[in-house]
Amino acid sequence: MTKIKQNIQTVSARIQHSCHSAGREVGSVKLLAVSKTAPPEAILQAMEAGQRDFGENYMAEGVEKILYLRAHLQQLGQLNELQWHCIGPIQSNKTRLVAENFDWVHTIDRLKTAQRLNEQRPVGAKRLQVCIQVNIDGSHSKSGVPPDDVLSLAQEIVKLPRLELRGIMAIPDQPPNATNNIANESIFTPAREIFSRLNELGYNLDTLSIGMSADLELAIEAGSTMVRVGTAIFGNRI
Ligand SMILES: *Cc1c(COP(=O)(O)O)cnc(C)c1O
Repeated sequence: MTKIKQNIQTVSARIQHSCHSAGREVGSVKLLAVSKTAPPEAILQAMEAGQRDFGENYMAEGVEKILYLRAHLQQLGQLNELQWHCIGPIQSNKTRLVAENFDWVHTIDRLKTAQRLNEQRPVGAKRLQVCIQVNIDGSHSKSGVPPDDVLSLAQEIVKLPRLELRGIMAIPDQPPNATNNIANESIFTPAREIFSRLNELGYNLDTLSIGMSADLELAIEAGSTMVRVGTAIFGNRI
């Protein structure tokens, strides 16, 4: 068994265990493999382990891999079931690359970006699946909209016909450690609360994108439906 396959099994076991502890169904949390900096060979190994959803942070690098793997699978006569998630900040001059190549965007943090993606999404393609990135701890270093602005952004996004609003994404500022579990649970809580509030208002969202290699257990406890895991699958990035 390859190291990557082994890592995916280990991460899947962590997800399963967390779901059991939280009294949630195992199928309620999806694993997004964050493949930034990983070569296409590593992604192919993850695919052999059954992984289908991949996340990329850097647009040019991501699109290069998307196109390479599409051609590669076509050459092998294999079905391309890969779903590509853009999880990095999007500059305005990169929206077209994203709209034309990705299936998901987790990092919508202003209307302008959403409008450009809507205009540039090819007509024949499935609607672009999007999440609003929320800045849950008020940090200046991370992108994301302040919690108070989420509802007004959501109201505008749902009017865009080429986008489908799926949920909320957040990256807590502080990496968790063994001594501050309680503090970290409360770091994820605001994201869950915004997600729930929008659903109470009838938004019908199914995606709460929180949790990474180091804190997926806490995120699942807080209600995560999608964990974005890089290091624990592909190893340390250089
Ligand atoms: C890199 C990255 C991840 C994965 O982080 P790991 O700690 O390697 O699991 C998840 N989400 C975002 C937005 C990232 O940039």
